[in-house]
Amino acid sequence: MSLKAVLRNTLLLLVVSTLAATTAAQAQRLPGGVHPEHYSLTLTPVLQAATFTGTETIDLTLDTPSKTITLNAAEIKFLSVTSGSQTATVTLDGAKEQATFIFPNELPAGKVILAINYTGILNDKLRGFYLSKTKARNYAVTQFEPTDARRAYPSFDEPALKATYDISLVIDAADTAISNTNLIADTPGPIAGKHTLKFATTPKMSTYLVAFLVGDFKCSSGKSDGVPIRACSTPDKLELTKFAVESAEYILHYYNNYFGIRYPMPKLDMVALPDFEAGAMENFGCITYRETDLLVDSKTASIPAKKRVAVVVAHEMAHQWFGDMVTMQWWDNLWLNEGFATWMETKPVAKWRPEWNFPQDDAQDLDNTLNLDSQPTTRTIRAKAETPGEINEMFDGIAYGKAGAVLGMVENYLGEETFRQGVHNYLQAHLYANATAEDFWNAQTANSHQPVDKIMQSFVTKPGVPLLTLSEQQPSRVPIMQSRFFLSAPANAGTTQQWALPVCIKTTSKPICRVLTPEDSALPIPMDIGLPVFNANANGKGYYRTAYTPSQFNAIVAKAETALTPPERIGLVGDRWALVRSGQGTVGDYLNLVLALKHDPNAAVLESALAKVTSIDTRVASDDDRTQLAAILRHEFSPIYTALGQPAKNEPFDRQQLRALLFETLGAAKDPAVLAEARQLTDRAFADPNHKDKTLDPVLTDAAIVITTANGDDALYEKVLAASKDPKDPGAQSDALRNLARFRDPSLVTRTLDYAVSGQVRNQDSWIVLAALLRNRETRDQTWSYIQQNWDKVHAQFTTSSGVRVVNATGFFCTAGQRDEVISFFATHKVDASERTLSKAIDSINDCIHLQSTQQPNLHQWLELQSKQ
Ligand SMILES: [Zn+2]
Repeated sequence: MSLKAVLRNTLLLLVVSTLAATTAAQAQRLPGGVHPEHYSLTLTPVLQAATFTGTETIDLTLDTPSKTITLNAAEIKFLSVTSGSQTATVTLDGAKEQATFIFPNELPAGKVILAINYTGILNDKLRGFYLSKTKARNYAVTQFEPTDARRAYPSFDEPALKATYDISLVIDAADTAISNTNLIADTPGPIAGKHTLKFATTPKMSTYLVAFLVGDFKCSSGKSDGVPIRACSTPDKLELTKFAVESAEYILHYYNNYFGIRYPMPKLDMVALPDFEAGAMENFGCITYRETDLLVDSKTASIPAKKRVAVVVAHEMAHQWFGDMVTMQWWDNLWLNEGFATWMETKPVAKWRPEWNFPQDDAQDLDNTLNLDSQPTTRTIRAKAETPGEINEMFDGIAYGKAGAVLGMVENYLGEETFRQGVHNYLQAHLYANATAEDFWNAQTANSHQPVDKIMQSFVTKPGVPLLTLSEQQPSRVPIMQSRFFLSAPANAGTTQQWALPVCIKTTSKPICRVLTPEDSALPIPMDIGLPVFNANANGKGYYRTAYTPSQFNAIVAKAETALTPPERIGLVGDRWALVRSGQGTVGDYLNLVLALKHDPNAAVLESALAKVTSIDTRVASDDDRTQLAAILRHEFSPIYTALGQPAKNEPFDRQQLRALLFETLGAAKDPAVLAEARQLTDRAFADPNHKDKTLDPVLTDAAIVITTANGDDALYEKVLAASKDPKDPGAQSDALRNLARFRDPSLVTRTLDYAVSGQVRNQDSWIVLAALLRNRETRDQTWSYIQQNWDKVHAQFTTSSGVRVVNATGFFCTAGQRDEVISFFATHKVDASERTLSKAIDSINDCIHLQSTQQPNLHQWLELQSKQ
């Protein structure tokens, strides 16, 4: 699955759930001894009644003769279960989501065929076989990962119990259906007004990767390496599917070469669903998407919007090999699937569109992940997960971001081609089967003859982030110390945890890498190598924070723009800010670094630097400080913005981004000229809903709307509200929803809150509005009061993960009073599976209180000093 696109968009403080504190979970695994080999499924959904009937046969083998067979089923009503001439009685265990069939006589060891008739419901919870709605009609669609195939068909619903599938759907004559493989028969009946679609037999695959989608989808199509590719949507959005096809054509060919194993399915479909919980889902041959992650207007969309679609497409397609063809043995190794797809998702697109600057995005993601993993309540990459609740909690920033970053570090250490060959060997050895973490790192170790097993094992089984503390360089060596890094100052005392850590020193040619062991107290530096500047994280791919001595740091800053790459500069800025948060530096030191880098020509570097200034503004500064800080930002950055000039045709993307970034920064700092320009651009944008005006730069226009809505009045609010209700372009609709949450006038904030919980906003999206309002310093208090007073309405909008995300967003508070309110409110108003998230949010609030109390005096001092200059 992809979560990232959603998270990146909302700039959420992603909170990790940990499993350490859970009480011993009731084991919910199937008893074993039963091996499913083939499912034959015929499903008849009734879209108006929101129900379905199912006819299923399962071919399986029994290890020993048995009278009973236990499998998974939830919300299923069994009509009959037979094997040969025997009819079983069925007992259900709702808590375990299991059904046990009891036959009068023993079934023999060896081959057995079960025949099952049942009914189920098309639910509204965006999981299992569920109903998705538009104004025009209903759709019946599926989302099974991790444990919801059992809601659509009784099954041995564990990833290692792979089988082949024959799937048939009986649907209305005017409708169509899409499933994992190609359509092989379409026959009228079995009753008037229906037709039956039969799909080709699938390869061996896990239950959670099965998909079937019913409705009036329309598709655009393409082809790559002989494989037909389609991108599909509801009929009104067909025009928005072309860019996804174009991306997938490039990516499929790229992956065929990269993996050295050809895409195995007869076709690839990608389908946008109006209601969808995650970002996207990698069902084998039939990938499903949230509309905003697949649909984009190839002619008018901004580059960031296209990047988002291409990256999600690349993530899900990577899973077709890594996840679908070769699957983790059990959910404790979910990181193998998700870490790999996260690491891989920018690789083909960066090759396809080098000017879109993906290495900088990867560096920014790494910085965010390091912060997330530097809280005391983080978890290890591999963690125990037995119940559906625990398994769902595994889909977090550790399984995605951290695991992906650790793979990126290993690739940087081994070299691209050596790592690629290791990936190929691993996949080739486990095709259509399952594998563990050890299988992966053993394959990499055998191929490279380097200690990948030691590196990966230490990062997969130890929690948190290494800190590399350097001393002054001596002849041919730099003394070092390794420890565990925490963002909160008190947690840093006395931490001795160490890793097998690959450290790469930047040189004028190839980096020199060495794996540090706990015994190492120095990095050897050969005398004869050229050091452009001493940098201990070449390429910025290392999963660690670095603390330089003051003289080392000053030397790096002095040469940063020429000697370091943009990802290395992003790492430098990220390390510096993290060290300030941990008490090893001051806000003033950090702001001095930002001013030293203010002419950096790279938009992502400056964006990284300024994001932390926003953090100082919202989390550290008093109201008076904010006014002074804004004045300094205007003074420092206004000339740089002016020097960039107006947007020109065919400008590089990086320059567009830089202009928009400075524009937004100056807008937030209330620069009068920028506010006026933003207002004008916003008016022009709303007067041009069909993007006819080619002189409007889409990136700058988006920034203008961000600025203007933050200061917006009733008239503008009405326009944005109307845009949030217009389903024509899901990306524009979603942007409008986020922009609604920027208005600060209290009466407009109340309108936004009422709207978010009114049922007019899809359940998949309403949490986005609440979280954005909680994040904003100006709207936070009002939003929190509203949530408490209107809990029933708020709670009614929650899906599997959205309640947790609202709990998460309370982590943006920064006072002891609000922390205590959060604790007492959620003690009596429970949100499902949110206990760990709540303790992480409390951690974040405490961190902020600590940061503010220690750094606010320093900020005053720094601001005073600046005003005298
Ligand atoms: Zn994924």
